[in-house]
Amino acid sequence: MKRILLVSSNVSREPLQVYPLGLAVVAKGLVESGHEVEQFDFLASGESEALFRRKIVSFDPDYVCISLRNLDNCDSFSRAGYPEIAKRLVGWVRGTTGAPVIIGGPGFSILPEELLAFTGADHGIVGEGERVVCDLIRDLSEGRTPPPILRGGRLLDGGQMASPLYNGGMIAYYLDQSGMINLQTKRGCPHGCIYCVYPSLEGNRFRHRDPKAVVDDLERAGTEHGADSFFFTDSIFNDPQGHYLSIAEEILRRRLRVRWCCYMRPERIGRKEIALLKRAGMYAVELGTDAACDTTLRSLGKGFSFADALEVNRAFVAERLPCAHFVMFGGPGETADTVAEGLANLERLEHTVVFGYSGIRILPGTALHGQAIAEGVLSPTAPLFEPVYYFSPQIDADVMNGMIADSFRGRRDRIFPPVEGQKRLAVMHNFGFRGLLWDHLIRFPKDPGC
Ligand code: SF4
Repeated sequence: MKRILLVSSNVSREPLQVYPLGLAVVAKGLVESGHEVEQFDFLASGESEALFRRKIVSFDPDYVCISLRNLDNCDSFSRAGYPEIAKRLVGWVRGTTGAPVIIGGPGFSILPEELLAFTGADHGIVGEGERVVCDLIRDLSEGRTPPPILRGGRLLDGGQMASPLYNGGMIAYYLDQSGMINLQTKRGCPHGCIYCVYPSLEGNRFRHRDPKAVVDDLERAGTEHGADSFFFTDSIFNDPQGHYLSIAEEILRRRLRVRWCCYMRPERIGRKEIALLKRAGMYAVELGTDAACDTTLRSLGKGFSFADALEVNRAFVAERLPCAHFVMFGGPGETADTVAEGLANLERLEHTVVFGYSGIRILPGTALHGQAIAEGVLSPTAPLFEPVYYFSPQIDADVMNGMIADSFRGRRDRIFPPVEGQKRLAVMHNFGFRGLLWDHLIRFPKDPGC
């Protein structure tokens, strides 16, 4: 048995504070393997070096594991970078204990070699952590010399995925700050959006957890920690196989009083399904619409049309369930004409919120990365550690941003640039609102049958 300190390095509050679910899942995997685990959340601790060092001294860990959730915030206007914080934490560990440092998490898994060197951690874990970290600690404890970076290998099936071991203090912080905690009902994504690393991180097929196990987690979070509001962090909640409906049916069968929201793909979901989800506690949904016209939807490899997004939007409005569309401008094939067409399309999305983004973060190994190199807008050797964004060479970015800003101006339900949304949400937060917050920006029509 080893003493392991798990540390979440995430400090992002955008768009809201997000419970470090990966840490909780790894914690459960380690505890089930017989280790003693403590969790430390740098954000919830007020980003305090003193509290961090005090935790290390009081717990006296054999190993310190640091998670890096994101490289940056995918907002080309702010270009915030998070690896620096992980590096700082590694330095503080070094100054406090001789315990080896292991780093992992989705952000780390995107650029493992570079981030291991940058942060100065001893070992890195790529991919699903709950089993690999146990293997790594076993090997280190038995005096073996594992490679500096371990990869997850065969993906876990749904039954092998650990339930999160939520931490009471951390739950209290997130319920107070964002009003919800996270849970995952499946991993993976079978789609091929050209900019996305999700399928390479979690696999290109859905791996579903048993709905009973998922709803057990909801129940446990409620009985043990008083949590009744959740975000399902699956890549897409509405999988075509309909697994998501089984989750809702299980919640209803147990008469669980929870509220929740999720990410969805804006296609193949109608009023019947939405009504069922609403009865099971869904109160809002974030739609990965991602582009605003068919030309750019095609060039991003989205696999649905704008008409699909429009239809799904209408179904949500008819069920009076708030939805928000997240849309990126400036991707491959974007021109002044497609921006104009996209903005006109967005006008047709009624009673909904639209978040606009400018440029698309280029991540290694994606088709977008290859395309940017082929088009000569990015050098093949350009480091992607710091945020690098793709902007279509067929439109001037300033002109494009001006068109979006003009179109969204004066509307409370249209948000651009993202920092504007943060300001509005911060005001609502200060007034005591909790949850997604943007859902309060929607006014539904008097007649629900629109
Ligand atoms: S953007 Fe969403 S739908 Fe597309 S590949 Fe990534 S996770 Fe899947």
